[in-house]
Amino acid sequence: MSAVIDIQTASRDLEGEDAVEILKWASRHIAPKLTFATGFGAEGCVIIDLIARHDLPIDLFTLDTGVLFPETYALWQRLETRYGVKIRAVRPSQSIDEQARSHGAALWDRDPDTCCELRKVKPLRQALEGFEAWITAIRRDQTKERAFARVVEHDRKFGLVKINPLVTWTHDDVWAHVYANDVPYNTLHDEGFPSIGCQPCTVAVAPGEDARAGRWRGSAKKECGLHVIQPSHKETDAA
Ligand code: SF4
Repeated sequence: MSAVIDIQTASRDLEGEDAVEILKWASRHIAPKLTFATGFGAEGCVIIDLIARHDLPIDLFTLDTGVLFPETYALWQRLETRYGVKIRAVRPSQSIDEQARSHGAALWDRDPDTCCELRKVKPLRQALEGFEAWITAIRRDQTKERAFARVVEHDRKFGLVKINPLVTWTHDDVWAHVYANDVPYNTLHDEGFPSIGCQPCTVAVAPGEDARAGRWRGSAKKECGLHVIQPSHKETDAA
């Protein structure tokens, strides 16, 4: 945890501030112990665009579960080429084949919580070691749990400061930025996939359906377990 940041004050002062100014503030106060973990959603692409165009000293990585869509791997390359940045791959300790030998094939079908723990949460926890803060791409209007997110908050799950520069943005704000700045985005967004995760756990949604309805379709699971939002003493898993 950063010794120099007063989270309450920073969050209050930065509320309503421009996303670039939030990223610059975080860079000034926290870099080089500042990282952005992107899942390559449109919001993440916007943050990479802002970081790269303003040459901010922010580490970039992604969780490569080994079962991302080919379109996501292609986007990863396009972003690196377009912006001249390195987006590090953080991978689980076991390959898909090794996990199948240890836990049985297609663990995501039988026990997605354990699969996410092995392929996302544990690698993320290791990847965040040594950093003081991480940036996320969450927006308040994404889910009812995320409605409580603040610009700067204490991430109790990972023991870090969490910076949410797009927290006040809307879906339309994100796409306006993407189109205005020709930001690369996942082509699956044009094929009915508003929210894209691992290939086995993501399907297209019908027009009018909730944006995250295609994630873990048919399961009660709605989140990966990466983010914990704390609305006034109430803890909610909201990744
Ligand atoms: S989203 Fe699916 S495949 Fe990816 S880690 Fe979670 S359960 Fe496994």
